[in-house]
This record gives sequence, C-alpha cells and structure tokens, in this order.
Amino acid sequence: MTTAPDAGLGAFDLRDPPSMDGLRACVHCGICLPQCPTYRVLGEEMDSPRGRVYLMRAAAEGRIGLSADFARHLDLCLGCRACETACPSGVPFGRLLEATRGQFRRRAARGASGRRRLLGAVLAVFPHPSRLAPLLSAARLYRRSGLARLARALPLPAALARLEAMESLLPELPAGGGDELPERWPAAGRPRGRVGLLTGCVQRFFYPDVNRDTMRLLAAAGWDVVAPRGQECCGALHLHAGRIDDLRAMARRLVAAFDPTLDLIVANAAGCGSALKDYAHWVDDDDDARAFAAKVRDVSEVLAEAELPFRELRTTVAYHDACHLQHGQRVRAEPRELLRRIPGLTVVELGDAELCCGSAGVYNLLEPEVAGELGRGKAERIRESGAPVVASGNPGCLMQIARECRALGISVEVVHTVTLLARALEEGP
Ligand code: SF4
Ligand code: SF4
Repeated sequence: MTTAPDAGLGAFDLRDPPSMDGLRACVHCGICLPQCPTYRVLGEEMDSPRGRVYLMRAAAEGRIGLSADFARHLDLCLGCRACETACPSGVPFGRLLEATRGQFRRRAARGASGRRRLLGAVLAVFPHPSRLAPLLSAARLYRRSGLARLARALPLPAALARLEAMESLLPELPAGGGDELPERWPAAGRPRGRVGLLTGCVQRFFYPDVNRDTMRLLAAAGWDVVAPRGQECCGALHLHAGRIDDLRAMARRLVAAFDPTLDLIVANAAGCGSALKDYAHWVDDDDDARAFAAKVRDVSEVLAEAELPFRELRTTVAYHDACHLQHGQRVRAEPRELLRRIPGLTVVELGDAELCCGSAGVYNLLEPEVAGELGRGKAERIRESGAPVVASGNPGCLMQIARECRALGISVEVVHTVTLLARALEEGP
C-alpha cells in the first residue's frame, strides 16, 4: 500500500507535486482548526488542515510514504478551503490537496473500494450528457413509479442504500433536460459587451431554469449572452479528485468551445467557477487557457456592477455561502448586496456561515456520515434563522440543503440566488 520514494520530492514524484513553499508556509498556529468542518465533526488533529499539511510535508520530506491512513485523512477532507480563508500565513490548501490527491491517484497502489468505484462511476457519467440524460430518465421513472417511496420504507443492502441516497438528493427533475436553453440572448438596449455562459453539467440537467434566469439577468444588465451548445464538463470534480491530467484535457476542450473574443465568461455554479479560475494555475502552459481564466466571473460579480430594475419581493431570505464561492473565489459581498437591492426583501445571516453544508462536489455521496452531520447542522441554522427561503450560488448546496431540511421537517424554499433576482426583475428581455 506504500510506494517507495524515488527521484523526486520524498514520497512524491515531480509531476505536479504539492508546492514545498506552500507546505512550509504553515506555522502550525492552529487558527484554522475551529473553521475546519471535519475537525469539528471528527475532533482528530489529522483530520484538521494543520494535521493534513503536516502529513503532506512529512511525505514531501520522505519521512512517511503514501499510506492508507494518510489517504483516508485526505479522503475525509471536503476540499471546502475554509482553512485558506482562516489561515494568516496564506497556505494554499486547496492546491496542496489537489496535487497530493493526484500523487496518490497515480502512485499509490490502492485496491478497489466501494468509495473509489462510486467515485469512478460518478466521474464517468457526469461529464457526458449522453450518459447523464438516460440516467436521469431512469431516475424520473424510478421516482414516479413509486419505487422510490417503497425503497425508503425497506431495509436495503449497502449498494441499493447508496442509490437511494443519491435519489433523495435529486430535485424535481425538469422534463426537457435543459435542451431548450437559447444559444444567444441579446442585451436589453445598447450592449456593453458579450459574455459566454458556462451551462454546467449539474446545473444544465437539474436546474435548467437557473441558466435561463442567468441569461435573462445578464441581458437585462446590458450583456449579449452566448451559451455555446458544444461545451462539455469543466472538470471541477476531476480536479478535486486529483485527476489533474483529466482536468487539463477537459479545460482545453472547454476553452476551445468558447469564442476567444468574448469579454467575460460567466459561471453560476460556485464549484465550476472556482475550477475555471484555477485553469490559470493548472493549465499554465496554455496561453488560451490562461486568457480564458482571467475572464471568468461568478454571475453575482457581473450583475453587481449593473443597475437592475427590481420590483418588490416581500419575504425573508437566508443566504448560504457556497464554499467555492466564499473560500474558493472570495466572493461574499456581491450576492448579499444584490439581494439587498430587491425592495421588500430581508436578507438574514446564518450561524456558522463559513461552514460547509456537506455537499462538497460528490462528498455527500462518498462520505455520507460526515456530510449528513454537516447537513443537519446547516439545516438547524436555517431553522433558527426563521427564513422561509434559502438562497445559494451552487447547485450541489441546493440539493444537499433541500434534502437535509426535508429530512428534519423544515419547511423552506431552497433556490439559487439568480432565481430570486430573476423573480424580482421587472418584465424585460
Ligand atoms: S479544505 Fe475544509 S475540510 Fe479540508 S482541511 Fe480545509 S477546512 Fe478542513
Ligand atoms: S492557520 Fe495556516 S499556518 Fe496556522 S495551522 Fe492552519 S494552515 Fe497552518
């Protein structure tokens, strides 16, 4: 289970190793510990950012190998990057984690496990619309036939229980699968420029209305909007799993699908936007990818710069920060500011706002116990807020929060931030 060190950096080779400067930046102060969800749940030093950085550095210095224990502490990490926000020394934890996971994936002789098989299956399906579409049709049938209700009532073997857990995450599935999204949406009035929209795998299939609302809002903000039909997966899930070569191949394909003369590239899924911005780091030998990454914005960053004609929406919304928006992209103010511009809308803060909801890409499928505890905590903070609506900027968070609130009997509408903004937008384009 442990690989022998060779010419390289201790247990790592020199193909995308974690940065030694990044590892050395950790001064072991422990400020990050209370902000780390897995440390809060598990209470183990090695399941904290400081502990994980210690393990990575010990491997880089050849003091430990790529062991099963080390791998498990990395598996349990959500990759939420709350530790980066908390860290006064600037430890680039997300990149260290992704690089180290990449080393494990290529170099450690890990046997097949249910977790790895499931991760492989998810990554084999999600980037491919031709595979995802029939799977969703089957999920619709499963739900409508009543089998889903029956499955919930019965004790299930482990594999079926996982399928049931996946099904419980799904929102009401739209019939069209998002194919009806227009490829172009002209600006209202004189255009200020042209933006390209990343339609995303999960967003496109589970929440196609969010893409439509995003196009409408951007057009109202004065942008000509293009949603290229040929775009594929951005590779965010692959990056978080340490599949860096896959990420590079997917990044090059995605960049090629967008017209290089576009002024901006807009993402409305926090995890995707964070990965797109990080193309500049992981695909740094490609001028096109670096130029593309420099143009990427979260939709809230673009809309916050515009004057939008909002009508009254009299309700209260609790805003949930998606980790890859608040920690990955450092976008916290813009979504709140936009929501506060809607007349009649009260925006309230959640307790433990910096903590992950447990979604974290596909973490809630792979590590349901820790994810469940975090999800229940988030749902309780939502209950305490008293808000009838929760808004967030990431489809994975919407699914996780909706499921956990349902399970606890908390009656709340869970929506993407742009859904509320589009609801408040005066009739227009
Ligand atoms: S990324 Fe999140 S879960 Fe992982 S060590 Fe940092 S704070 Fe903890
Ligand atoms: S806050 Fe930063 S420097 Fe301090 S222990 Fe955590 S990672 Fe290390």
